[in-house]
Amino acid sequence: MSEREPGEWNWGGSHRFRAARIHRPHTIDDVAAIAREATSLRAIGSRHSFTDIADSAELVSLDEFDTEMTLDEDAGTVTVGGQATYGDVARLLEPHGLALRNMASLPHISVAGAIATGTHGGGVANGSLATAVAGLEFVTTAGEIVHVDRSSIDFEGMVVSLGALGIVTRVSLDVVFDYDIEQHVFEHLSHDVLASAFEAILGAAYSVSVFTSYDRDGARVWIKRRVDGRDRSLRPGQIFHEAIAATTAHHPIRGAAADQCTRQLGVPGSWADRLPHFRIGSTPSVGDEQQSEFFVALADGPAALDALRGVAGDLADALLTSEIRAVAADELWLSPQYRRDSAAFHFTWVNDADLVDRAVRVVEEALGPFAPRPHWGKVFHADSFSASDAYECLDDFVELARRFDPHGVFVNDWWRRCIGGDNGGP
Ligand SMILES: Cc1cc2nc3c(=O)[nH]c(=O)nc-3n(C[C@H](O)[C@H](O)[C@H](O)COP(=O)(O)OP(=O)(O)OC[C@H]3O[C@@H](n4cnc5c(N)ncnc54)[C@H](O)[C@@H]3O)c2cc1C
Repeated sequence: MSEREPGEWNWGGSHRFRAARIHRPHTIDDVAAIAREATSLRAIGSRHSFTDIADSAELVSLDEFDTEMTLDEDAGTVTVGGQATYGDVARLLEPHGLALRNMASLPHISVAGAIATGTHGGGVANGSLATAVAGLEFVTTAGEIVHVDRSSIDFEGMVVSLGALGIVTRVSLDVVFDYDIEQHVFEHLSHDVLASAFEAILGAAYSVSVFTSYDRDGARVWIKRRVDGRDRSLRPGQIFHEAIAATTAHHPIRGAAADQCTRQLGVPGSWADRLPHFRIGSTPSVGDEQQSEFFVALADGPAALDALRGVAGDLADALLTSEIRAVAADELWLSPQYRRDSAAFHFTWVNDADLVDRAVRVVEEALGPFAPRPHWGKVFHADSFSASDAYECLDDFVELARRFDPHGVFVNDWWRRCIGGDNGGP
């Protein structure tokens, strides 16, 4: 990892926080007092976003916040503090024989930060992690403590909140009975085969990821298959869509050592140790990097893939790996999967601002015909994207933000650039 100047940095080392102060409250009354007094404030989670989305003059970190996790087996939910990581939640659920429906590629991210940006895992039938949210507690800038659940009016607008409605102190998540997964990697998948069987490949198991650099070496497919019979149609053998079963463990970045990755080679294990690509307690990915991701309609996936293959040469200097996953549609107003089953095209870049800037422009142009929606927590150009064109509920969301934050305390530079306007703030 390259040397960083002193200061507060995001996880990937691409953004140094400008905030002059970070509050670390212990109780919800502390949070309310901070929110009431601040004129420019944001909550910060585990800092895994790649831009200034979580920056402001003042920050609130819930690292020292005192919350217990509670299970409500009748309701089928677990309630955790906003700062809990998915790894923390997994550790709580496993002894009870319970599980989450899905995880992102890493268990290290905070629940509140992940749902705020619409973070997702893989699976044609799996919605983003935000779709598992059954209820929320958040503190507004008036210091009011708000409790909402799926029966509340406008709940669909409150989950993927971009951090703009309040400080999320508790989140209730749906739980299911636990399940085991085995992970198989196949190499040398030709891009032509991928394009011709795009939905069949991404839908071949509970969760599927395709890693590629769009070059001649083809792609690798990571199949996360449930061993409880749900993925009965898939019988992993030596060949999958002409790709060949790997005989050693792989890292998403070609050539990188796989020791930080979750167990592969078909060894069954708990959902929490197989759905993420990276192990709890490990360093995920490379740790000195930037990321971007764009979502198009699943049906446009093959054409989007072809478009990216056409510009592979222009991405090569910046690209460490690209991951393609499917994510199911949902009803959450600012979810990148809002009413659209989606193909997600993710890019892990080297941490070089100029190279990334150029490469992201190339991707945005290539995917332009498919009305791409960017991942809120990753790098995109605000001038290549219109939030109001992409999200039919954007005005309703801005109205909601004004209702909970009438003075625009949560409005930051990122919001002004990417959403536009000042939300009625100063
Ligand atoms: C190695 C790596 C792998 C990744 N893999 C995936 C993946 O598989 N899928 C995917 O979709 N994304 C992925 N991401 C992106 C990541 O999931 C998102 O950026 C996510 O938002 C990070 O959560 P965080 O807790 O770090 O939030 P932060 O980056 O700290 O904050 C993100 C947003 O959440 C808000 N926020 C944080 N806490 C609170 C709170 N308590 N109350 C209100 N608002 C809050 C912030 O204000 C900000 O707007 C990955 C990132 C990295 C670094």
